[in-house]
Amino acid sequence: MIVRAANPRRQLKRYEESIAQGGMRLTRQRRHVYEVLLARPDHPTAMEVFLRAKPEMKSLSLATVYNVLETLVQRGLARKVRLDGTSTHYCANTMEHGHFTCVVCGAVLDVPLLDGGELEKLHRLPRGYTVVQQEVSLHGTCATCGKKMTL
Ligand SMILES: [Zn+2]
Ligand SMILES: [Zn+2]
Repeated sequence: MIVRAANPRRQLKRYEESIAQGGMRLTRQRRHVYEVLLARPDHPTAMEVFLRAKPEMKSLSLATVYNVLETLVQRGLARKVRLDGTSTHYCANTMEHGHFTCVVCGAVLDVPLLDGGELEKLHRLPRGYTVVQQEVSLHGTCATCGKKMTL
């Protein structure tokens, strides 16, 4: 099941309000970069966002894309995900979820927590430790690749 960003229009509105509070404006560039990120929930890298956003906005630079993504993360509208331990990917799904990476085709899927699921109960935390952020990374085969392997 793919969890799409709740509602792109509402998220854009939240971004606009959040930026306004910081005394900034939702410029065309900021808006465009965010829209590109919201358009496909496939966890692109900053470079991928840049390549998708550039054709419609020739003036866009990679540095601007990095900046916009950074402000989105700071404002809680996107998060950084390290899927393979090296490159940073961006995810605009603000709901609690883990990531499932297909080891064959590399596709990354957002997987929601089950209702009432509590990750903290899966681990034996030392006394006095508190989890403030959790990143669940599952690896396996997606439905398509799994089917091909059993043929
Ligand atoms: Zn995600
Ligand atoms: Zn696959």
